[in-house]
Amino acid sequence: MAQEKLLLIPGPSPVVPRILDVLARPTVSHVGPDMVHDLKEACENLKEIVFCESGEPFIVSGAGTLSMEMALLNTVGPGDRVLVLSQGYFGDRMAQICKAFGLDHDVLECEWGRAVTPGELDRGLKTKNYNVVVCTHVDTATGACAPVEEYGQVLERTGSLFIVDGVCATGGIPERMDAWGIDVVLTAAQKCLGAPPGLSILVLSELAMEKRRGLPAVPAYYSDLLRWLPIMHDPSKYFSTPCVNEIRAFAEATRLILEEGLEERFERHELYAEALRAGLAAFGFSFFTNPSFPASTLSVVRYPDGVEDKAFRAGLSDNGVVVAGGLGPTAGRVFRMGHMGNLTSAQVRFAVEAVERTLAGLGRAVKPGDGRDAVDGVLKA
Ligand code: PMP
Repeated sequence: MAQEKLLLIPGPSPVVPRILDVLARPTVSHVGPDMVHDLKEACENLKEIVFCESGEPFIVSGAGTLSMEMALLNTVGPGDRVLVLSQGYFGDRMAQICKAFGLDHDVLECEWGRAVTPGELDRGLKTKNYNVVVCTHVDTATGACAPVEEYGQVLERTGSLFIVDGVCATGGIPERMDAWGIDVVLTAAQKCLGAPPGLSILVLSELAMEKRRGLPAVPAYYSDLLRWLPIMHDPSKYFSTPCVNEIRAFAEATRLILEEGLEERFERHELYAEALRAGLAAFGFSFFTNPSFPASTLSVVRYPDGVEDKAFRAGLSDNGVVVAGGLGPTAGRVFRMGHMGNLTSAQVRFAVEAVERTLAGLGRAVKPGDGRDAVDGVLKA
């Protein structure tokens, strides 16, 4: 078997043995008591994770992109206009989905590295009437975190439905649906939630459900949330065979999250982000993301002069850590390191030591222990 490496790409994140053990259990009936129990518990836990008292959770086979599609198709009706806030790659994807389904939409974008500001949103809303506003909480290409709470305050005055793409945030960065006026959180299992890939996950507020119920037929069948609603209320019913093992593993992932405590988990993400960045900075790396919009779930890292992307990432992989390259215009200029989910401080230290070994292997003058000391300075502070 190939030697196991520490997976620090911006999703999927490493899946801990406790969750993998559940994934490996024998497949049970999709409408039997074990599945009914686990899906119901996963739904309840999911509502807690996004701070939603009375909305409707949905957990179906798929991935984040299907969640994006489902969110739009179930909330945008004929005659509606959508405003897509795009700070990068995944905001652009949201616009592409609008285009694919012929939804009337405008894109309010900003340069890569930051997010649209609440002031820019406010000005954008004055130009036209928008029924639905969509944002990306953390754009995984740029590492920029959007000010979702402030967007919610701006939108309070407009009555627009507010959709948040939490694929790179949910379970790692707060998304307080009720308090912030979010109507849909869409996400996926494989990043901050720490479960294996394979699920589309959404939570809709009562208002969003009301909107869906008021829409005429939506241009979807599998993606029609009203077909899934009876299953989420009573998983002993059948609509389409769910991925039993992934859902049971996801239920375990949500238990682990609530056992850790949400606020503790958010703080841990902040702490490890700071520690890893301190370690990387000690070796001369710098950061692509505008410092006013940092996400605690990944770092987009610029190379010091003379360090070549492909050689660095290949060397780092040989030293036991897998990171991702840049997307779009940043390709070749940065690497992206995910630090989300159920990471440990030992893994944070291991990652920085692997960077040190890699740089030394590339012939760079590194002072042994510098990165580790910087990490410890943060973790022990
Ligand atoms: N939105 C964001 C912010 C993402 O990071 C991703 C995946 N990297 C997606 C959507 C799409 O998710 P998936 O790859 O699971 O379809």
